[in-house]
Amino acid sequence: MTQGAPIRTRGPAASSGTIAEHSSAGRRASSFAPLDVPVASVPPEHRRPSAPKLPQVAEIDLVRHYTRLSQQNYGVDTGPYPLGSCTMKYNPKVAETVAALPGFQRAHPLQPDATVQGTLEMLWRLERALCEITGMARATLQPPAGACGEMTGLLIMRAFHADAGRERTKVLIPDAAHGTNPASVRLAGFEAVNVPSDDRGLVDVDALRELLDDEVAGLMLTNPNTLGLFEERIEEITASLHAVNALVYYDGANLNAIMGKTRPGDMGFDIVHINTHKTFATPHGGGGPGAGPVGVASHLVDYLPSPIVARDADTFRWDRDRPKSIGRLHGFNGNIGVLVRAYAYVFGHGGDGLTEVSEMAALNANYLAVMLAPAFPFAYPDSRPMHEFVATAGPLKKATGVRAMDVAKRLIDLGYHPSTVYFPLVVDEALMIEPTETESKQTLDAMGAAFVQAAEDAHTDPGILHDAPVTTPVRRLDEARAARQLRLRWGVGVPTDR
Ligand SMILES: *Cc1c(COP(=O)(O)O)cnc(C)c1O
Repeated sequence: MTQGAPIRTRGPAASSGTIAEHSSAGRRASSFAPLDVPVASVPPEHRRPSAPKLPQVAEIDLVRHYTRLSQQNYGVDTGPYPLGSCTMKYNPKVAETVAALPGFQRAHPLQPDATVQGTLEMLWRLERALCEITGMARATLQPPAGACGEMTGLLIMRAFHADAGRERTKVLIPDAAHGTNPASVRLAGFEAVNVPSDDRGLVDVDALRELLDDEVAGLMLTNPNTLGLFEERIEEITASLHAVNALVYYDGANLNAIMGKTRPGDMGFDIVHINTHKTFATPHGGGGPGAGPVGVASHLVDYLPSPIVARDADTFRWDRDRPKSIGRLHGFNGNIGVLVRAYAYVFGHGGDGLTEVSEMAALNANYLAVMLAPAFPFAYPDSRPMHEFVATAGPLKKATGVRAMDVAKRLIDLGYHPSTVYFPLVVDEALMIEPTETESKQTLDAMGAAFVQAAEDAHTDPGILHDAPVTTPVRRLDEARAARQLRLRWGVGVPTDR
């Protein structure tokens, strides 16, 4: 092959469209030998009135179709993925091998405890490790996502106050918080009250004190916060909440700035949720299975969801005798397949390894922040970021009219997944970037150069950014409409709200 010639991987353009559009009546992906046993008839009540309208395709068309679709995707296995707050780090393949062990993969959630001792022991050990990492007494592994972990923690908060005969209606949340925090607070039946940030991007402690009264159930805090900044007055904050009998909830979706360095329990937090699909590199699964374990301090253990794993000498069992429990947060026992991967990650690294993860996450973020600063200044120049940072495209917009969204789309054409944009809301034209610890210096240099290139293009030819992306199967989508008017079935032409 001549050097530089493009390598064609996507196949002929004719192979576009949905699988239904490739259907050809009578074509099959398999053929069977003639039946050599009597035909058994299906009872009428189990028969459908008409055959399902499945696409009729050959195996090769099926394979090419889905392989081609997979090639249109972008993932951590094809390139860096600097989505701030989402922690899209590389998922080690050893975790897949462990999760595929038949003892885990073929276990059924309704098997008697005696037949799944290995799985129960794994869950028990993982729980102990998470409690060690966070400084909590016990944890539930049931919640299938971070947002569900928040809901769990808030229901625990509610049960704790109800048990003490206290009526508490409000939960405080800093204005930089992740959007799931206020949503979870509302779902759990509390009123969300905003705590302002100061000009360094940290909680305004004086404003917080003014909000404290006997209606406050607790405070939800992310630390380092969503700007990537460590709350310097954290012990003062947790003590002030405890002084009014309120609880302090730690949003630990991303623990990869502090693992092995400090622990929410040591800072005075009562409840913490962890996203295994961020901190412990389990797959995010396109919004699919995740795990959001919740750890609690000793005074809250009785309220944890039921069941939790109990250990009697060398045997393990599900403990369902938990009268004060808030109940179930999952149909069975959580997403065990995800939890096995988290176990592999935690024990594969060991304590020193996890500490190093935190160090590298902060180093990588700071390295990239400094590289980008001339083009995209750090939103809070007086503070040092940890595992992620928020830069602003505000000055670029003023100079060229190009917005953060245009920069994000240009990055796609330059071969990179964009960063998070327009979050947190408190930063104008925010670019929230989390390179994660898994990327090398060479990858960071190349990714940083793409951001800088986008800024240069904005000055020389802003049209390139306004038109971007031009290299993708679809151009710019109406994102609000795409999310609200879903068309999930082929042949159903009119989108509905249902
Ligand atoms: C991702 C994230 C959440 C929500 O987690 P999900 O698993 O997506 O529900 C909550 N808080 C923070 C800070 C996050 O980054």
